[in-house]
Amino acid sequence: MNLEYSSVSPPISGQIVAAFGRQYLVEMANGEVLSCVIRGKKSGAVCGDNVKVKYISGGQGVIETISPRSTLIYRSNTTCEKLIASNVTQIIIVISAVPSFDEEFVTRCLVAAENQKIKALIVLNKIDLVEPTRSILPSLSLYPRIGYSLLKISAKNDIKPLLSYLKGHLNVMIGQSGMGKSTLINTIIPDADRATDRISSALDTGRHTTTHAKLYHLDENTHIIDSPGIQEFGLYHICNKDLAWGFIEFHPYIGKCKFSNCLHINEPDCAIERAIKENKIDPRRLRFYRKLVIKKK
Ligand code: GDP
Ligand code: ZN
Repeated sequence: MNLEYSSVSPPISGQIVAAFGRQYLVEMANGEVLSCVIRGKKSGAVCGDNVKVKYISGGQGVIETISPRSTLIYRSNTTCEKLIASNVTQIIIVISAVPSFDEEFVTRCLVAAENQKIKALIVLNKIDLVEPTRSILPSLSLYPRIGYSLLKISAKNDIKPLLSYLKGHLNVMIGQSGMGKSTLINTIIPDADRATDRISSALDTGRHTTTHAKLYHLDENTHIIDSPGIQEFGLYHICNKDLAWGFIEFHPYIGKCKFSNCLHINEPDCAIERAIKENKIDPRRLRFYRKLVIKKK
């Protein structure tokens, strides 16, 4: 690619609507989409980023700067960080009883949402599979109790209830593979498959490359980022002190322990432990919290 772009034309504003490795599609205000690389050795840009782009020619551009992000969703382990989406205002966590329900995955997504002070919605898909769904409902009843909306749908039947939750947000949809995320996206955005084709050809990647995130517009104020299916949501980047804030029902008790640096593991006179004894916090949540603190993963 010829990167001899004009130094006279000023950078123009746009938003990253697809990210694949270090290649990006940037949508400009006039709706034009440019295939872009990023200038210099900046650490990665991510779907949702507002950027300034220098136009080269033939639908190509170079990302010069990334605007400050209002929020950033990413996952990490001991060795690396993977950016998922930026500037989102709501996380949609897609789960289903089939192939399986992973409570720890949901917990981790909720911690990531709280950490960025973003709304979270849990979508239980495949409720047409009645018996398996029924078997996980008791575990799921925890979430509405602590303040999260739990929406039960079947992507194969009717997804209308989901649309009103998406409204007015830049949403990111997250889920382990097999939960029905693609089915949902294809129902919400009937054009999604064709959009994927366009993105793949613009980025010169294979049609079935699934490793990139894509942003779709539902209306002027409603957008959704489809992130690649993930199995593990590592939270290594969230320090121990902040992990407790990731558990929404712990909030009233934080700062009320005997020791100001209490990690709520086995310290004496711990307010969280007291809340468990008084049935104000579900012990499963404290177990997950402790697992995160101890594994620091
Ligand atoms: P993804 O990996 O999360 O993108 O999942 P897919 O959208 O590829 O769906 C995985 C499988 O679940 C496919 O065989 C879908 O047809 C099926 N599926 C998706 N939604 C539903 C649903 O609401 N009900 C049932 N019974 N199957 C579904
Ligand atoms: Zn404590």
